[in-house]
Amino acid sequence: MPGIGPKLGVTLEKFTGRKLVDLLWHLPSGLIDRRYRPSLAEVESGRIATFEVEIIKHMPPPRRSLPYRVSCQNDTGFLTLVFFHAKGDWLKRALPLGEKRMISGRVDRFRDQLQMTHPDHMLTRAAFDALPVIEPVYPLTAGIAAKTLMKAVQAGLGAIPELPEWQDENWVASQDWMPWHAAMRAVHQPENGDALSPLHPARARLAYDELLAHQLTLALVRRQRRRAAGRSFPGPGALQARLTDMLPFALTGSQTAALGEIATDMSKPQRMLRLLQGDVGSGKTMVALIAMMQAVDNGAQAVLMAPTEILALQHAETIGPYLDELGIAWDVVIGRNQGKRRADALAKLADGTTRLAIGTHALFQSDIEFENLGMAVVDEQHRFGVQQRLALSDKGAGVDVLVMTATPIPRTLTLTAYGDMDVSRMTEKPPGRKPVDTRVMGYERYDDIVANLKNIINQGQQAYWVCPLVKESDASDLAAAEARHAALAEIYGTRVGLVHGQMKPAEKDAVMEKFQRGDLSVLVATTVIEVGVNVPKATVMIIEHAERFGLAQLHQLRGRVGRGAEKSSCILLYHGRLGDVAKRRLEVMRQTDDGFLISEEDLRLRGAGEVLGTRQSGLPNFRLADLEVHAELLPAVHDDVKLLLEVDATLENTRGKAIRTLLYLFQRDAAIRYLTSG
Ligand code: ADP
Ligand code: MG
Repeated sequence: MPGIGPKLGVTLEKFTGRKLVDLLWHLPSGLIDRRYRPSLAEVESGRIATFEVEIIKHMPPPRRSLPYRVSCQNDTGFLTLVFFHAKGDWLKRALPLGEKRMISGRVDRFRDQLQMTHPDHMLTRAAFDALPVIEPVYPLTAGIAAKTLMKAVQAGLGAIPELPEWQDENWVASQDWMPWHAAMRAVHQPENGDALSPLHPARARLAYDELLAHQLTLALVRRQRRRAAGRSFPGPGALQARLTDMLPFALTGSQTAALGEIATDMSKPQRMLRLLQGDVGSGKTMVALIAMMQAVDNGAQAVLMAPTEILALQHAETIGPYLDELGIAWDVVIGRNQGKRRADALAKLADGTTRLAIGTHALFQSDIEFENLGMAVVDEQHRFGVQQRLALSDKGAGVDVLVMTATPIPRTLTLTAYGDMDVSRMTEKPPGRKPVDTRVMGYERYDDIVANLKNIINQGQQAYWVCPLVKESDASDLAAAEARHAALAEIYGTRVGLVHGQMKPAEKDAVMEKFQRGDLSVLVATTVIEVGVNVPKATVMIIEHAERFGLAQLHQLRGRVGRGAEKSSCILLYHGRLGDVAKRRLEVMRQTDDGFLISEEDLRLRGAGEVLGTRQSGLPNFRLADLEVHAELLPAVHDDVKLLLEVDATLENTRGKAIRTLLYLFQRDAAIRYLTSG
């Protein structure tokens, strides 16, 4: 790279990455237009302008603190170049007396003089003509000068070969896109400001390339997993049939459809890795129970894992009676059960007495052995790490895994986030649910709200009062919640409890259980950690600073009420004045109760990154694709990947080989290894 020595090389590597292609993925964030070439008499001050002038006089400063000046002219007027802390020798060489130079930079009028302080360029005509007229401006880091980075990228551009097209030729033509190398050139040698738009054909093409590489990688991972051995659990068996008969309700269409997909997966001799996506209350747990019976019917054990002990106990309460009636030995394995209780539980899992276990992380611990684990259901996916999922599959060879999540994700993003899993979506809800009356209110109404709350509590109902917590460690938010708790406690006394993220799990559980038992009327919470808990008597959900929450989160919180016979309400409290987008977002909450719809609207109003949140989404950090603007490309990418794998799964034909290059360019080498191992 011209101008990049060993020392600068290290800095550059740290900044953009090790390979030439990394440098090329570093896209300009702005540009400087050097097409403005007015006469010196007519130039507008404040603009970037370029002139060809003759150097007529050097004026070194009489004192160090004053600038060095160089006078120039052409037949339209005079220009003074101004340099602070200048090295006179260097300037004399760069601007030789009597010669002509191209000078480019910002001009200003100072008194009657036209000045340019520290010009961007002072070059001979030939050297200047070699520069792009419209110069890209790159995001910078300490230690690398703008010009240096630009020169390196421009040199890099010269080094890229014309690679065979990996996108479908007809598709590229239909989009009016250019080949990869031309797109690279277009983004780094922009012709005008449009080139900065993510929707510019060059950037859109490169974004498609990146999404294609990502999606194809996920699909290859999924294919690899499918090829890995699993176990076949044919169904439906006797237990499954008896359970379905036993249910006091008919399954919804969504439940039946999801169960069909799960049953098909489980009957195949490959491992299942399926995501069951459905709103709070859509009946996922029941689906999981019926699915687990398919494993148990075939002589295997099943586990159901919840993120907290309370949720595990709650699951036990719901599904335990069914299991008892079916005559299936089941158990709860949670951290609080220690000593003999735990030893007994472990012995029964190991010798196969227990057919179904409900628990928490405690089920991963290394001293736990199963006689014959065949299926694992993981509830509330985002709280389980990948490591934990791996640990789980170590507990049994080829265990079928069903992951349940209530976090709605817009359809267009599902594959991007979960492309390595198969996905079942449950959009229908069991009949007879009362919608939660949702209201948006300003903080001025605080006194009214508190007064109203008193009435409700006097009728034996309960309320959640949620305060936002941006970061687990954010002390000011915690203080706000503690203050709210104290204020409410002045009115309701000991019937107000507080849970927050800095409490120990056992402390949190204790408070939650008090609330569940009805010993507390109001629960102030800074955290959404316990969202899965079912308290039918809770009919009021008050969310402070609702404008700070994601809609998906608000929706989840609201799902905590409306679970009993009484009418429920949700109050979205905001502080200060709401902006237009914030207003529309909260309005969406008022208008609909459909989590998927809400997530689609949130995507439309805010963009992907924020909808999903970094912590729970599993979405990759793309280098140039921006899901906010490129989401529309996703369906085409998905179709493309599907077709590719149908036609040429091992990437051997002409397009397949070109695609391998694409994967290398995005450094998805792991995916390529999967190809060769199959
Ligand atoms: P989720 O886990 O999706 O939040 P649950 O499985 O906890 O939902 O179901 C919520 C409630 O709805 C439970 O009380 C469950 O028994 C009930 N339920 C599940 N499926 C149906 C159905 N098809 N018809 C009526 N009620 C149902
Ligand atoms: Mg649930």
